Amino acid sequence: MPKPGPSQTRLLHAGRPKTGWVNTPVSRASTYVFETMEALHDARARRDTERVASYGARGTDSTMALEELVEALEGGYRCHLFPTGQAAIAVVLMGFLGSGDHILLSDAVYEPVRRFVSHEMARLGVEHTIYRPDGSDIAEKIRDNTRLIYVESPGSMTYDIVDLPAIAHLAHERDILVVADNTWGSGILYRPLDLGADISITAATKYLGGHADVMMGVAVANEASWPRLHAATVNFGQTASADDAFLVARGIRSLPLRIKAHGERALAVAEWLSARPEVARIYCPALPDDPNHELWKRDCAGMNGLLSVELTNDYSAKDVETLAETLELFGIGASWGGFESLIMPSAPQKIRTLGNWNGRGPFFRLHTGLEELTDIIADLEKGFDALRPQR
Ligand SMILES: *Cc1c(COP(=O)(O)O)cnc(C)c1O
Repeated sequence: MPKPGPSQTRLLHAGRPKTGWVNTPVSRASTYVFETMEALHDARARRDTERVASYGARGTDSTMALEELVEALEGGYRCHLFPTGQAAIAVVLMGFLGSGDHILLSDAVYEPVRRFVSHEMARLGVEHTIYRPDGSDIAEKIRDNTRLIYVESPGSMTYDIVDLPAIAHLAHERDILVVADNTWGSGILYRPLDLGADISITAATKYLGGHADVMMGVAVANEASWPRLHAATVNFGQTASADDAFLVARGIRSLPLRIKAHGERALAVAEWLSARPEVARIYCPALPDDPNHELWKRDCAGMNGLLSVELTNDYSAKDVETLAETLELFGIGASWGGFESLIMPSAPQKIRTLGNWNGRGPFFRLHTGLEELTDIIADLEKGFDALRPQR
């Protein structure tokens, strides 16, 4: 298996002062005062290509330090920060697409992105087509006006993996931009830019922050797409606070260790679940019988804490709610990537438009936290024992 992520050593040294304070101090700021007119002109001349202080929205010491760190994490040319992951995605799509353009999206895309494209982008005259989660129908769905292929690999809830290098090759022959949502891999487990994507977006709210205490999105571009990403970000007035940048940088220092520990626990939970009679299917690309296992081995460096579970038809959505309420360590809540375990009932059949989801059992997602594995399993055991088949 390749090792996509940067070394832990690099992540401990990027984006911080070389001497003095170990961490870049929080610089809350709006106005930056210049000593001379010449200094003002100089900053304005350089600020679109270099990291120079000129105005709070253009970056502070704190946000610039985090940008540098995220660039090391993703292996990109330059990075911008956004108030949420969803904002990063919205600005990239609005920045690169206009009336008459067409975008391709996976059926396994994060649901709010599907909604953004079908409501906001459609309102602006951008058409979209949904492709199969494995990407096998992308070539036939490309149109003359296709400008962007949006990839989320592994995808939301079912963790489908696409052959990103092949898609990037196909796209670049036709001058189509490839944008990847890398929240699952978070730079450690998956590196879209190395695999051919032009822009990689991550919800830093999840593993980068890692402690369920901050909202942020990051977009990292290759050199060719940087000028447009930069202009769109400035024009849409996007920035992130110095306090939040500090928290995310602090989270990234321990990111490789945390993801590894989440992944080890999730895999052990997946193995425990596979022996349960209530379970029809486990969605986890690290399991050898998962349909995404070969691409996972080729392109990913490991597992994170996410697993989805489909129960057999003997159970209902109501049973999943009983399970969720019986669990004590697993909180009922949205998001994931923090230190704690979470459960979220979901219903792909209500979201997906391709494939046949009829007659399937109820579905839920687990985020395996950093609690002791024996405690996690004991909690799940108690939850499953509360289920009663309704035949
Ligand atoms: C959570 C998530 C986002 C959005 O991040 P927010 O910071 O909550 O806006 C985007 N993509 C994926 C895959 C996510 O899981």
